[in-house]
Amino acid sequence: MGTEALLAAVAAEVRGCTRCPLHRGRTNAVPGEGNPLSDVLLVGEGPGAREDATGRPFVGPAGQLLEELLHSIGWARQDVFIANVVKCRPPGNRDPEPVEIETCAPYLDRQERALDPAVVVTLGRHSLARYLPGSRISSVHGQLRRSAGFFVFPMYHPAAALHQASLRETLFADIRGLPAALLAAREALEAERAGSVQEALREAAPADPASTAPEADHTEQLTLF
Ligand code: URA
Repeated sequence: MGTEALLAAVAAEVRGCTRCPLHRGRTNAVPGEGNPLSDVLLVGEGPGAREDATGRPFVGPAGQLLEELLHSIGWARQDVFIANVVKCRPPGNRDPEPVEIETCAPYLDRQERALDPAVVVTLGRHSLARYLPGSRISSVHGQLRRSAGFFVFPMYHPAAALHQASLRETLFADIRGLPAALLAAREALEAERAGSVQEALREAAPADPASTAPEADHTEQLTLF
């Protein structure tokens, strides 16, 4: 199955999900949306009122600021994929409970596997805790980190800047570093992949009688990875 079909399958399951009590209060589940070809995955916390009403992530006031942030670096929401740690609105916009996050996690796991992002941008505490457990947003925001198999670029949640004006400037300053962080992550991933291909070829060589074959065979083998 291709990326788009995998994401569509997750979305369909999320819309019918009854795994945790959050489904009882929802109008719409919010699976996530965006460009299936993007290698940037933005992960927020959970749907708010407008997201619940529309079934789309980040379409309320925090979403407006998120779009401004993306525009400030020449990007649009169609350039990235946007998802949340929990897919149904916690009542009254309370924080999601650990059990709700855990129950919902397999959906985000599958979205990550389908997208295979070069960078995951965490928006807010709960998203940060998934990718960089134990770290403090005040210490890591705007810095590219490697953790749990991902390159992670932590940011404050846009909603936080709606309540604390000083964070607005921090958010705009941080996102200015995202394009360079993405390039760095892509290069590092390419180097890692090239390294593991070479290692696989080296490991295969002694047992493989074809290892003495002409170079064209090696090219063939590379294309298999
Ligand atoms: N806040 C979030 O964390 N996610 C949304 O989708 C909207 C607001």
